[in-house]
Amino acid sequence: MLIDTYGRVATDLRVSLTDRCNLRCTYCMPEEGLQWLAKPDLLTDDEIVRMVRIAVTDLGVTEVRFTGGEPLLRPGLAGIVERCAALDPRPRLSLTTNGIGLRRTAAALRAAGLDRINVSLDTLRPDVFHTLTRRDRHSDVIEGLAAASAAGLAPLKVNTVLMRGVNDNEAADLLGWALEHGYELRFIEQMPLDAQHGWQRGDMVTADEIIGSLRSRFTLTPEGESVRGSAPAERWLVDGGPARVGVIGSVTRPFCRACDRTRLTADGQVRNCLFAREESDLRGPLRSGASDAEIAGLWRAAMLGKKAGSGLDDPAFLQPDRPMSAIGG
Ligand code: SAM
Ligand code: SF4
Repeated sequence: MLIDTYGRVATDLRVSLTDRCNLRCTYCMPEEGLQWLAKPDLLTDDEIVRMVRIAVTDLGVTEVRFTGGEPLLRPGLAGIVERCAALDPRPRLSLTTNGIGLRRTAAALRAAGLDRINVSLDTLRPDVFHTLTRRDRHSDVIEGLAAASAAGLAPLKVNTVLMRGVNDNEAADLLGWALEHGYELRFIEQMPLDAQHGWQRGDMVTADEIIGSLRSRFTLTPEGESVRGSAPAERWLVDGGPARVGVIGSVTRPFCRACDRTRLTADGQVRNCLFAREESDLRGPLRSGASDAEIAGLWRAAMLGKKAGSGLDDPAFLQPDRPMSAIGG
């Protein structure tokens, strides 16, 4: 098991497949100037599958989510999914993507064994999409969502970050749209993980504000603490259900006490927390002939250093050196 000193057990692995992206979301990346990881530093497909195998067979991981950067930019994605789906025990496999390219790939990913998908979309308006992502790809995302739904990747979740003065007036519209299409919408509070370190607590649209805006149009009934479990999203039934909406209040309603995550970056570093400032290198040992048992031992040791919380409320909080796109959100 991957257990930390507070007794939390990590069963949910986030694997970043690349730090590159075809969007430049303002809360994540600068317009230009971000240094990409060097190709030889990236884990190969074989190395990724080996790491996932060790996590699943030796360390008790049951959920694997591929992310990035933009994971659909990784040429070997379907092969990685297929090989991970063949592992015994088979982990549940999911993907977080901006949806660009899904129109072409959703069916193949489903066939390869992908179970679930989260597509990030912050606005229903193409002009606001351009302001937020600096690219004109709104229709690609909408088409990608439709393709994922048609491919049977259900429940299809949509991740939304609200930015003050940009798309914070769209919360209820987005929920109405998600209900219409059968997507489960989850709002994520903006976190201090942007490469340009521009996050300001005072600018952040809080979970309370988001719930308030939704309540102006919908009746929300809390699903309750027992249902939240280790899930970061607090969920509400919308207009009596069965449709639901989630809010991930990572900043104002942290879920660190129930955290069950472990993370692997595209260059083979284990991170025990999104906000950790330390990483543990597994790529070096992997490439110098370490056995599965040795890698598993190093991974366990990395998790022992997991802190009780994110430290976001500490006045001395320092953002991790890597941005969200390089950690794997
Ligand atoms: N490119 C893919 C995507 O956008 O879904 C996967 C990687 S992205 C880093 C994963 C998720 O993190 C997205 O839903 C994105 O909106 C979210 N995200 C990125 N930067 C964030 C920030 N500073 N605060 C909160 N969420 C953020
Ligand atoms: Fe790319 Fe995802 Fe970051 Fe947007 S949030 S820039 S889509 S990695």
